Amino acid sequence: MMDMVNIECLTPDKDPMGAAIRDYHAVGKAGRLRVFSSQFEEDEIPVAGLFRTYGEMPVLERKALDLAEGRILDVGAGSGCHSLVLKERGKEVLPIDISPLSVEVMRARGLDARQVNLFDPRFTGQFDTVLMLMNGSGIIGRLENIGGFFNRMRQLLAPGGFVLMDSSDLRYLFEDEDGSFVIDLAADYYGQVDFRMQYRQVKGDRFDWLYIDFNTLSLYATQYGFKAERLAEGEHYDYLARLALG
Ligand code: SAH
Repeated sequence: MMDMVNIECLTPDKDPMGAAIRDYHAVGKAGRLRVFSSQFEEDEIPVAGLFRTYGEMPVLERKALDLAEGRILDVGAGSGCHSLVLKERGKEVLPIDISPLSVEVMRARGLDARQVNLFDPRFTGQFDTVLMLMNGSGIIGRLENIGGFFNRMRQLLAPGGFVLMDSSDLRYLFEDEDGSFVIDLAADYYGQVDFRMQYRQVKGDRFDWLYIDFNTLSLYATQYGFKAERLAEGEHYDYLARLALG
């Protein structure tokens, strides 16, 4: 059976990141936002970091914000940190997120946010810039969804429009000390990760998150009629890409 792309939104009882964002917005602090994965050790997302200002953002994100133009769609906008910078600059931005609690916070922060899943075909529009930041490729979930992703972008981009997306290349996790590679080519693509989050008693469902290296992204982009350009590289195997119809 083929896996279908999920087009649902979250409910508040399955929205740990949103609960953390709501607490931080309400009282300026939050508990631990815990991240579990079958592939990694337990980790934590610093909630204050989700409220970062322009000055606190990594260079790749600042570059993306500086390049965003026209009608902007902020996909998986979280606390709205990027949308707020753009709004303050007088840009027209629509933040969307599947997290009901994050959308509530974004609205309280003055943004016109909508609770929407990027892959829901009922969501339509024409955007000059589609922003996908903080390992934004993650929302694609798995490599087999990438065709669906490019088709979706084709629907949502205005003529001349482009996607600005950042990702890390997880190859460093598989590199030996001498720089040689120990990736199992018969296994799934190495950037496919599964996560589950928990905040206090709120446990989210497991979800797939795709980290993609630039060459793989570029190959698939070409296959689906797009052109990928690497605009900048970060400090740790991360990069910012621009995807435009080729
Ligand atoms: N861009 C924000 C948040 C990143 S976390 C920042 O940089 O701080 C990823 C966000 O994407 C989460 O808020 C999650 O709820 C949202 N998300 C995940 N899948 C999504 C989808 N299919 N459509 C819209 N938003 C999604």
